[in-house]
Amino acid sequence: MAETLQGSPIRALGLLSGGLDSTLAVRLLQEQGIHVECINFYTGFCIQSHTGAIRNPRAGAPPPRHDALHAAATLGVKLHMVDISEPYVQIVTKPRYGYGKNLNPCLDCKVFMVKKAAELREKLGFHFLFTGEVVGQRPMSQRKNTLPIIAREGGAAGWLLRPLCALRLPPTEPELRGWVDRSRLLGFSGRSRTPQMQLAAHYHLTDYPSPAGGCCFLTDENYTSRLRDLWHSRGEKQYTMEDILLLKAGRHLRPAPEYKVIIGRDETENNFLSGFRYGRIAIQAPDVPGPLALVEGDPDDAALTLLCRLVARFGKGRQLVEVTLEITRGDAVTRRTVAPLSAEEIPATWYI
Ligand code: SF4
Repeated sequence: MAETLQGSPIRALGLLSGGLDSTLAVRLLQEQGIHVECINFYTGFCIQSHTGAIRNPRAGAPPPRHDALHAAATLGVKLHMVDISEPYVQIVTKPRYGYGKNLNPCLDCKVFMVKKAAELREKLGFHFLFTGEVVGQRPMSQRKNTLPIIAREGGAAGWLLRPLCALRLPPTEPELRGWVDRSRLLGFSGRSRTPQMQLAAHYHLTDYPSPAGGCCFLTDENYTSRLRDLWHSRGEKQYTMEDILLLKAGRHLRPAPEYKVIIGRDETENNFLSGFRYGRIAIQAPDVPGPLALVEGDPDDAALTLLCRLVARFGKGRQLVEVTLEITRGDAVTRRTVAPLSAEEIPATWYI
């Protein structure tokens, strides 16, 4: 076990996504006898936290898992799971460094996470922080000139070690103080995953997620176009936790600026949407199998008929001449019998 001059064991706190890089960073430090614990942050946009509850897994696919929990169990480290979703709203709506390709404020996000980790480091008595970042791997947050910004603005300058690329960066305090042996750290850089995969093989790590899988809805083009639509329709960049959860499920169509409809694509999504009926108009056919749909906004009577016809289109009664839909608004339940829309009657511009 690595120790300080005073004889206390060296304790390091790492950011663990459960991806290969953060997993390898943990292993490198454990190999030096350092006591490692990790943090995983919940932002509200984490794909794995909800996808398993919303979508049916593909036939034969393994059951959904939470990569950070899985990696922590494999590595034998304690995982601190921290919900930062409330203050994170500011990061998403007003990022100082702007967005990446979609609505991903990666640089602000990393700074914020390091800041939160630095607070926890202080509170829980860890000697230093570390991440699995690799210089040059990501266009926004992992460039040579942005890594120092993350450490400095996160309040961890000198105390944030990146074991996978440390040899390409100035030595940090834990290295200078002899707590970490710099000669056993690495100098990875760039987008190639080959060195990481070779190191994973060396550690006999095989069960790690594909880097292409992604972990954050803010990098997802479809999801962020829904979020943009939400902000546009409300005239302001704000969201609630319900808003961002609902953006993850169903088909979203906006036939008019004042309202949109979310239509479940299968039973799992219908069940998920059912939990969000309160305060919304719900539409569902009682007599033929079909989706549950939730309406957001304020449709007038004619618009409600149009929405019923639209919802009928996505049910098993789409070939029938008429389908009866049940409309629930609070305690009031009414019925409307309509002709399902044909595919040609649904403009592509309605889809968000
Ligand atoms: S992908 Fe998402 S979680 Fe990761 S740094 Fe970017 S905004 Fe943050």
